[in-house]
Amino acid sequence: MALPRVVAVAPGSPADRAGVLPGDEIVALDGQLPRDIIEYQLLADQAELGLEVNRGGVELSVLVRREGGEPLGLEVDAALFDQVRTCDNHCEFCFIHQLPKGMRKSLYVRDDDYRLSFLYGNFTTLTRFTEADLERVVTEGLSPLFVSIHATDPEIRARMLRNRRGATSLRWLRALLDAGVEVHGQVVVCPGVNDGEVLEGTLAGVLDEYPELSSVACVPLGVSRFNREQSMRPHSPGEAAAVVALVEDWQGTYLDCLGRRLVYAADEYYLLADRPFPPLESYGAVAQHDNGVGMARAFEATFNGRDIEGELGEKGPSGFFRSVEGAPTTGYRSERANCAGGGEVRFRRRAWSGTTVLTGTYGARVLAPVLAALGEEAQVLAVRNDFFGGNIGVAGLLTGSDLCAALAGLPGDRRYLLPDSCLSGGRFLDGLTVDDLPWPVEVVPADGASLRRALLGEPAMAGAR
Ligand code: SF4
Repeated sequence: MALPRVVAVAPGSPADRAGVLPGDEIVALDGQLPRDIIEYQLLADQAELGLEVNRGGVELSVLVRREGGEPLGLEVDAALFDQVRTCDNHCEFCFIHQLPKGMRKSLYVRDDDYRLSFLYGNFTTLTRFTEADLERVVTEGLSPLFVSIHATDPEIRARMLRNRRGATSLRWLRALLDAGVEVHGQVVVCPGVNDGEVLEGTLAGVLDEYPELSSVACVPLGVSRFNREQSMRPHSPGEAAAVVALVEDWQGTYLDCLGRRLVYAADEYYLLADRPFPPLESYGAVAQHDNGVGMARAFEATFNGRDIEGELGEKGPSGFFRSVEGAPTTGYRSERANCAGGGEVRFRRRAWSGTTVLTGTYGARVLAPVLAALGEEAQVLAVRNDFFGGNIGVAGLLTGSDLCAALAGLPGDRRYLLPDSCLSGGRFLDGLTVDDLPWPVEVVPADGASLRRALLGEPAMAGAR
């Protein structure tokens, strides 16, 4: 069990007043060492808290006094202090198996931990879920959770997960729903494996067996150039159109039976099928925004000044970096006085010849029509993902090397903006940083309102994590 290390103390907070310092390791809260940030939060939720810390090998006791429910003011370096529960599956579509060798270790962790599902929105297959986990989820109110369904047919699901337990682990989904836990599901659709009739059967199975699910996202298989699974291939435009048609058909059925659409096709499907995105209103609470569902319409709406914060719900770190490297979770983090690569960025005002927004090939197709309203000044550059290759086109998987190549031939008198979703701890997936790029690049949060503010030259909070 690793001791949680303090990485930031909010100035003036109870922890700051008690003398806790960044670098301190938390040995115990009121005599107990929490297993994770959830237990930590529960233990810390009292007016007076005895904290034991290890400072450079010396154990110290401090008394933290909180007034009127103020937050403790500590940020620690990890969400789980015991071991992350890794998955016992061997899915042929697993993206972690499609990563090149030599990337940082944390990117290869195949987690299947309900706590990360609660904290970050990671999807869990429930193949390692237990009675004790169910009890904890229910008693501590760990809701919503995010469950990978893939297929409701037990044999097909077990085959896709390459794990016998895949045939039976959806019984935990039933138990979670019975206990009133809010659950969102996803189906990673692999062409020729669980699309067509299998997907039809899965959506019927959801209606029969799990109608309380809050949402189900159908997302396309990502295939990198490092894929070694012969049967895994990207969707053709026709196959993407068929998924969209099937999902929209089932939305009608769900609307008739449940009064809500329930199932949604990821934005990527609409791009692949060259179909317009459905209106924002049809996405309901846009609950799977971070899973690429309704993201394009939400971006467009926020860019045009519509406040949909409430509609999107609480957002945490998004994209591939959800839980790797102990990224802090919304609700459990204190304000950092000076976050790495972040803080307030005042855009340099000089005589730029215009602004170029760098993004992935999919993002560019969403941004281009939205930015067109600003005229020639603002342009979008679709950066091809040669690092991963295959059908990888999302901005969150852009790497420093591909950005270097894209920027190399561009003029230095333009302003370059980059969404923060491709950075974690200030680094790209390939380990490069924005300082390695040939031209200065300003990192902006990956939402429409922030990008609009940045394009209009207003200060924005850079969200590099
Ligand atoms: S459950 Fe997730 S992490 Fe595990 S093998 Fe399947 S896709 Fe990969």
